[in-house]
Amino acid sequence: MNLTVIDHPLTRHYLTVLRDARTVPETFRAAARRLTYTLLMEATREIPLEEHSVTTPLAEAKGSKMPEVVAIAVLRAGLGLLDAVIDLIPHVKVGFAGVQRDEETATPMEYYFKSADLSGAHVLILEPMLATGGSLSWAVGKAKENGARDITCLCVVAAPAGAERMYREHPDTRIVVASLDESLNDRFYIVPGLGDMGDRLFGTL
Ligand code: URA
Repeated sequence: MNLTVIDHPLTRHYLTVLRDARTVPETFRAAARRLTYTLLMEATREIPLEEHSVTTPLAEAKGSKMPEVVAIAVLRAGLGLLDAVIDLIPHVKVGFAGVQRDEETATPMEYYFKSADLSGAHVLILEPMLATGGSLSWAVGKAKENGARDITCLCVVAAPAGAERMYREHPDTRIVVASLDESLNDRFYIVPGLGDMGDRLFGTL
């Protein structure tokens, strides 16, 4: 499976802050941003760099430059990862994918998609909660329809069912995640998970 679980002390620390039911939105948003930095180091590891020489105060030096990167934030929860991506990759282009899940069936219902042309771009899809995989699979499908070939998904928590679905439907897509949790409950929430990521980010509990 094309899935990497980040086992770094900082990732584990901030994931614990996110899991804690007592964490208030202000602290939750900061922890989501800080955890995203740790995911990004792995998510961008395989992006091929453009050669770019520079002149130091002493001599010419070989250098490297990041190529075009497009991030697509899956609304709403993906917004919680976006600040860190913009901070670390300031030239990133940002798209948005609006999908609402039917609470009864967890089927994704599209309501918005807007992005730059994705052909030739390195695409990061920001979808923190990989539960059934419906939303993420749909977002990856939309990115491919818009020309994306090199796609990495940034997730915070994944359930085995969602990870398996992604492997079945998009085996060419990489997933970087802070934790692979135990299961889904009967309302399709990840267990132990961290609850509803959008509600916890934006205080809509
Ligand atoms: N979306 C969430 O925000 N949390 C879950 O546990 C599953 C989907």
